Amino acid sequence: MVTEFDLHERTGVPVAAIRQWLRQHGFGGRAGQRVPPAVERRFLEAHGGPGDQRELLAERTTRPLTEVRRMAPVAAPPPPTPEAPAVPERMTVAMDDSARRVRDLLQRIGSLEAENAELRADREAARQAARDARQEVREAQAAAAPVVETLPTLGEALGRRGLKGRQAVDGLRTLAEAHGEALLAGLAVQDATILDSVRPVCAVITCREVAEGRGYLVVPAGGTACHVCKGSDNRRWFRRMALQLTRAGRRRLLVVGGAADSRAEFDRLAREEPDLKVHLVGEDRVDGTRARALVRGADVVAFWVSTELSHADSQPFKDAARQDPTVVIAASPPGGRGVAALARAVVEAVETQAAKAAGLPRDVR
Ligand SMILES: [Zn+2]
Repeated sequence: MVTEFDLHERTGVPVAAIRQWLRQHGFGGRAGQRVPPAVERRFLEAHGGPGDQRELLAERTTRPLTEVRRMAPVAAPPPPTPEAPAVPERMTVAMDDSARRVRDLLQRIGSLEAENAELRADREAARQAARDARQEVREAQAAAAPVVETLPTLGEALGRRGLKGRQAVDGLRTLAEAHGEALLAGLAVQDATILDSVRPVCAVITCREVAEGRGYLVVPAGGTACHVCKGSDNRRWFRRMALQLTRAGRRRLLVVGGAADSRAEFDRLAREEPDLKVHLVGEDRVDGTRARALVRGADVVAFWVSTELSHADSQPFKDAARQDPTVVIAASPPGGRGVAALARAVVEAVETQAAKAAGLPRDVR
């Protein structure tokens, strides 16, 4: 009979582990306990290892214990590998769970990588499509450009026919008179800004003054086609007034009174002249302080007389305007309730003031 120490010596299994094994297999496992040969054999089989150890076991059965002990070092079995300590069941379950989680995560990473690769491929395809489109545009431009570049200017075309300088201009005029329609239909314009100053203007002298003042190249036209008046007396005089105020540097106009419809038309026309800053005072009652403030912010104060604004309501403006030497005062003639009448009065007042300032007699219109 051997003890756990004998088993330890032969197998290298720690004594505590041997006792545990013995207890687990129902063979006691107390310290110093003698192990019956059958149990010893089972233990050695379970912790069997190298064959020579089994041979040793076979010898043990026939030789006295002392001899076996003596021989044991001679047999020199390779150092026995202690069995891995038994893994408790709970830990095994936990490890299984972890392994499963790791496996799931690896799968997830794999599918994300695949997705990512797909997206990258899509993006690359979109970039390629954009590059292709740009290339197509460049090719189309390259194909079109030489055609434009090889077109001669009108001057060059006339020059090749012996018409140069002044003669070319006369030639163009002659051509326009003879073949105007064909030229209009056949000539393409590369830069249209040169055409911007050409305007149809009616024969009324006021419209011609506005056209000249604005630097238009006048093409004679019927009333409603006129770029200045469109056939309206109110519009004509409003634009004439706008030109006068712009020239005089008096762009801030305060209008007091006036019939509602006339005020509305005045306001509408003022929106077409962004250079002007027009303020209209209607029927609302205004005190002296407010009137003075409004007059101070104006270059010209125009009164629409014999209108809906009562004498009492317009008086604060008259007082304020008379006390302010920097403003020009204009008033519509009695019965002149329309836009044209007031605009004309403004033109005359500003002209008179300018003439006075220059020391010249008033330009009688
Ligand atoms: Zn006109």
